[in-house]
Amino acid sequence: MSFSLLGLSDPLLRAVDEKGYSAPSPVQLEAIPAILAGRDVMAAAQTGTGKTASFALPLLQRLAGGPRVRANQVRALVLTPTRELAVQVGQSVAGYGKHLPLKSAVVYGGVKINPQMMKLRGGVDLLVATPGRLLDLFSQNAVRFSQLETLVLDEADRMLALGFLDELRKILSLLPKQRQNLLFSATFSDDIRTLADGLLKDPLQIAVGPANAAAQSVKQWVYEVDQCKKPALLSHLLHSKGWGQVLVFISTKDGADRLVKNLAKDGVAAAAIHGDKRQGVRSRTLADFKANKIRVLVATDIAARGLDIDGLPQVINVELPKVAQDYIHRIGRTGRAGLQGEGISLVSADEVKLLSAIESLIRQTLVREVEPGFIPAHKVPLTRQMKVRPKKPKKPKNKETPSGPQGQG
Ligand code: AMP
Repeated sequence: MSFSLLGLSDPLLRAVDEKGYSAPSPVQLEAIPAILAGRDVMAAAQTGTGKTASFALPLLQRLAGGPRVRANQVRALVLTPTRELAVQVGQSVAGYGKHLPLKSAVVYGGVKINPQMMKLRGGVDLLVATPGRLLDLFSQNAVRFSQLETLVLDEADRMLALGFLDELRKILSLLPKQRQNLLFSATFSDDIRTLADGLLKDPLQIAVGPANAAAQSVKQWVYEVDQCKKPALLSHLLHSKGWGQVLVFISTKDGADRLVKNLAKDGVAAAAIHGDKRQGVRSRTLADFKANKIRVLVATDIAARGLDIDGLPQVINVELPKVAQDYIHRIGRTGRAGLQGEGISLVSADEVKLLSAIESLIRQTLVREVEPGFIPAHKVPLTRQMKVRPKKPKKPKNKETPSGPQGQG
């Protein structure tokens, strides 16, 4: 099946050809004709399935056929949960629409608002926005929605997980009732279904791959290790396994910074992106990683959302996410665009519950491995443990022994 059979116009087919796509992905096959026909769509598409093109291509075609956009108006609005995803979708839209006389723009928080107001002044056909900044722009009369034809919620599950429901409701109340709605989500929780019920009219439902299953193209396994040995194990794996560039996930901003320092000590070029870094720094770090100037990018979940890095072979979870669904998003950063990837997690004894929540979500039991030299304490054979254990002092008679190390010496 080729793109030309989906009803896309020549300027879009040329752009797709220049991107080097030879055939539509499954979500594109289903979504493109439906969106071109004006239908609402609800798609459960994992990251890396080509979902951005599945809505951007037909939207651009519909926009090219419609009226001219007026001052400060927007004809199609794509809402994304994070700045990184907004930038990425904006870049994709600009690429797919390069042969069409349409205007697109991207707006997100954390940067000056004035240049964004200027961009909106003449109106834009397709606007990619994060919810908070969009509302700021609206309150300053920089954007209006009476010409809006289509709304896209991209990564809607993440939008709710980040607490954007109120902003989302407010934005929905500002839009014309008559419009096309497209909802994309990696996973479909009950909350997302409720949101979809209130938003979509007779939607075409698309599920690419089994819902809530981690990307099939990613080989996943676990190293069992003590929490305190994780940084050393990561450096060891990087040196011994011949891995190239890796994306590392960790839960906290401090943890990310500490890990970068530790990797630097072990001679590995690493950098962190997380919510405390300014947007400019985050963009530069990402560009350096994409240009292969940095070998290891250490990220927290929020900062990493939407990252699309060509041919990224490995994702490593130094800590498991607290929310099981984030695991799917994390490993979805690899194994994209038809390539194989590996998702490796370093799991300590205190994370066993998180691991079993992930395994029941993805309906898979992950293979456990132990790296020689990093065997977790609870797995060391009792005989070996006994050799290194200091002798227990005898209990003093008629006196209770206090617990903890002080009680042993
Ligand atoms: P997405 O799921 O939208 O984040 O896209 C993941 C990656 O797949 C991006 O790098 C796209 O450029 C790429 N891509 C999208 N559609 C196709 C296609 N039909 N053939 C090959 N690559 C594609």
